[in-house]
Amino acid sequence: MRRLIRWMPAICVACEGPAAPAPSDPPDDTFGGLWLGIDLHLHSTHSDDAPDNPIPELLDVARARGLDAFVLTDHDNHVDGEITTWADPDLEVDDLIVLFGVELTTATGHANLFSATPWDHPALYALRDGPGAALAAEAHRQGLHLSANHPLNGDPWEFGFDIGLDSMEVWNALFPFPTDNQPSLALWDARMEQGQRLPGRGGSDCHHQTGIEAAGLNVGNPTTWIVSEDRTAEALLAGLAAGHASVTYAPTAERILLRADADGDGISEVLMGDTIPATGDPIVLRIDLDQIPEAQVGAERTITVLRNGVVWQTRQTPDTTLHLQDTPPAGERTWYRVEVHGETVEAPAGLSGLYGPMIGLTNPIHVGFDG
Ligand SMILES: [Zn+2]
Ligand SMILES: [Zn+2]
Repeated sequence: MRRLIRWMPAICVACEGPAAPAPSDPPDDTFGGLWLGIDLHLHSTHSDDAPDNPIPELLDVARARGLDAFVLTDHDNHVDGEITTWADPDLEVDDLIVLFGVELTTATGHANLFSATPWDHPALYALRDGPGAALAAEAHRQGLHLSANHPLNGDPWEFGFDIGLDSMEVWNALFPFPTDNQPSLALWDARMEQGQRLPGRGGSDCHHQTGIEAAGLNVGNPTTWIVSEDRTAEALLAGLAAGHASVTYAPTAERILLRADADGDGISEVLMGDTIPATGDPIVLRIDLDQIPEAQVGAERTITVLRNGVVWQTRQTPDTTLHLQDTPPAGERTWYRVEVHGETVEAPAGLSGLYGPMIGLTNPIHVGFDG
């Protein structure tokens, strides 16, 4: 049963910006769903550049690291759009939620397609030379989730960002390595500045189980955690499309939940990814971290809230629940998203330097956005 909670004024210490209400309600799991963890960008031996990434081994890594769901996003260009991955009997498992996926691999950008069921991929492959709007229209006609990959690094996305993308990969592989993902976050913020709601996600782009790359990166680096209504592929994809998701550098690392109370009843009913009207009334953001690694219990992390793409508030704290109050202006667009920085202790031994300090990030809560 839900409780009504009175907010008490508090003195803000070690922070910038306005005072926050006291953290009077304890962490809870009544956030409208359950967490499903998945690596949304993975290659197998069905890609021409991942000969040492056999499906059984990838599934074992996903299981061992505690992921709930699994998808392969093999390239489609070396097989002229005739996907071989889906018919592989190794994918017939019942202990993980298995999505259907492909990395549409073109000369002007890569995009992952996701679905709970197979689709007519040659129809999409035929549209690989653009324009992007036709590609998106066909993807949506077939009920697919279209997600731009590594939009600025490697093979940049040149189909445009206003074509009806369902999400964008804002975190590809390790956050600062092999290429910096920070510009992708800046691009993401710029899209929101234009009023676009574009869910962000991660993906390891893992290609190998042997060699130097495998030593530093594997299934779940990073993991996208999706708030889902139930343990099905359909619910997972609905949560992703809604932006009910956060990304963290490893499956066993801190997981971040951003919510808000927009009606003053003490219940954080607004979930990251959601939009609320710009009424001019105050809102209280609530940030919860769970799944704290043992070595990080009691350790300080830096929790940063960005408002409209710039740092609004920063806390250096071991706390795992924060409340922050703001009054977004009436009739204007405002968005809030969270980044958590600190020690990346769940990186492979000796390699946390490659991971940098980015622990994780959330999708935004939008105020005054359409839809
Ligand atoms: Zn790619
Ligand atoms: Zn890829």
